[in-house]
Amino acid sequence: KVTGEKHEFQTEVSRLMKLIINSLYKTREIFLRELISNASDAIDKIRFLSLTDPNALSAAPTLNITIWTDKDNKVLTIADSGIGMNKKQLIENLGTIAKSGTSEFLNAVEDKKADMNLIGQFGVGFYSVFLVADKVVVTTKNNEDKQYIWESHAVNDFTIAEDPRGNTLGRGTQIQLFLKDDALEFLDDGVLRGLILKYSEFINFPIWLWTTQTQVVEVSDEKTEDTEVKKESTDDKKDNDDLDQPEIEDVTDKPEEKKEKKTETIEVPGWELMNTQKPIWTRDPKNITDYEYENFYMSFAKDSNLPLAWTHFKAEGEVEFKSIIYIPGKAPEGLFQKVQDYSRNVKLFVKRVFITDEFLDFVPKYLAFIRAIIDADDLPLNVSRETLQQHKFLQLIQKRIIKKCLDLIADLSKDEEKFTKFLSEFGTSLKVGAIEDNKNRKKIAQLLRFPSSYKGSNSTSIDDYISRMKKGQDAMYFITGASVEEVQNSPFVEGLVARGYEVLYMVEPIDEMLVQHMPGHGGKMFKNIAKGEFKFENEDLAEVQKLRSRFTKLIDNMQSTLIDQVEKIEVSARLTTSPCAVVATDWGWTGNMEKIMAAQAF
Ligand code: ADP
Ligand code: MG
Repeated sequence: KVTGEKHEFQTEVSRLMKLIINSLYKTREIFLRELISNASDAIDKIRFLSLTDPNALSAAPTLNITIWTDKDNKVLTIADSGIGMNKKQLIENLGTIAKSGTSEFLNAVEDKKADMNLIGQFGVGFYSVFLVADKVVVTTKNNEDKQYIWESHAVNDFTIAEDPRGNTLGRGTQIQLFLKDDALEFLDDGVLRGLILKYSEFINFPIWLWTTQTQVVEVSDEKTEDTEVKKESTDDKKDNDDLDQPEIEDVTDKPEEKKEKKTETIEVPGWELMNTQKPIWTRDPKNITDYEYENFYMSFAKDSNLPLAWTHFKAEGEVEFKSIIYIPGKAPEGLFQKVQDYSRNVKLFVKRVFITDEFLDFVPKYLAFIRAIIDADDLPLNVSRETLQQHKFLQLIQKRIIKKCLDLIADLSKDEEKFTKFLSEFGTSLKVGAIEDNKNRKKIAQLLRFPSSYKGSNSTSIDDYISRMKKGQDAMYFITGASVEEVQNSPFVEGLVARGYEVLYMVEPIDEMLVQHMPGHGGKMFKNIAKGEFKFENEDLAEVQKLRSRFTKLIDNMQSTLIDQVEKIEVSARLTTSPCAVVATDWGWTGNMEKIMAAQAF
């Protein structure tokens, strides 16, 4: 125990700490994310120095992050072989906040009670250690100075002393958290492993956790093999920033005799490598194989199906981030049933550190099937004025992502086989998009496909339909119904097809709604052929007139008989072989719509 020099925290630090401690209780696990990302930053810094100074690494050549617990003393330790801090940096970095605007930010938060949850999502830095610890000891060694110990019980002050043991670290920083009595879950291997994987799976440097794993081994009756496992010193690890799996010691040396074998469960302590996944989104797409993209997708999305398509890009300009967007091979269960639940389909990282996937509708519902990784390099992460604007920042990202999704789908539409597959999984989603997304409706409309009466085509785009429209045809003819078979036999279709017109078959329940929200496209209006008046180009009016007068009596008769059932009855030229058809008025429901409404029990 050394008594060190006493230093006061800068007033802002105390205020910030109180704020964090009082408002982030529920998400206090983020302290580990903060410490690991600081460790990773520190290693980045020394690695950068080593590019110009070949001796920079010699005091501790292995670049890694190690985490272990001392259960008896309730201490959790996070160590790194990063750049470390000299005495001056220790006082400045862990006693003051260098960020400009922190004061204003604190005022804003304290007065108006801004959403503290957002701050928790976006990184709070070193002081989050006091969420879980009532005492924190930082031991640190920089190449330029002696080894120092920083110690604090939070709130007002901290002490700094030269380490009487001398240089035990070589180089780097070790942070010991003396856990609060209500935070002892952070001594548990499983809890720590879970948190490291959740937040820090893609950190560039190896993260090793000292764990005790149970293994089942065979033992013979006579001699029980000694299973001796040494705690591997971190210095033994040869490779620098290499994420290779550690060697697993073979503790199951099997005896050769044929005697009946018994098994026994033993505890095997050792260093376990946490981050085996590499963040492929940070690499150059040119060097990534499809196989790598697919593999990465399956592990990140926890999906056993191959993805259908993906796009990997870097956004520049107003916002800068890297991203991979995937379209899954299969629609997830209950795609449209989920109401107000975090969709968790978009994972936001900042410099490879996981920030959150708890977004409500980060992408609009119709794109809820995509899976995306977004990694921003310079999100206004830290507590500062910008934190209050982060919503705007996210909106910019959202806009870019939506555009990229639509581009990706448009690209996919050039590959007929894949696009057919896409439509069978997500076609309805696109229609929802055309209904809900006013801004992108035109773009989405180009991606929609419908069966039609056009020979040889069971799936046409609206634009292709338009290109085949007859001279003088002023509207896009469609009919709604329950199935292609049903509408094909409709007397309305028959009349039009006989005259050489093409009819779109809208046989999904959502189609009725679609044409309500999207009454036209490409300068043409949709016309439901089961509704209202109908006029053909070059229609032989004299002929119809003749028929009208010939059937006046019959029509009058039917009209008076069916007075309660129909609005009017008339002679029409729209049928060819069928004698008659029931038509809805322009503003009325078609038979199909009636069916849909009845099914929904309105
Ligand atoms: P930020 O990481 O955003 O700068 P933090 O509160 O997390 O803010 O950390 C404050 C500063 O303390 C860092 O900028 C860094 O200079 C220093 N620091 C924290 N942890 C370490 C570490 N493990 N090694 C070296 N320096 C560190
Ligand atoms: Mg930090």
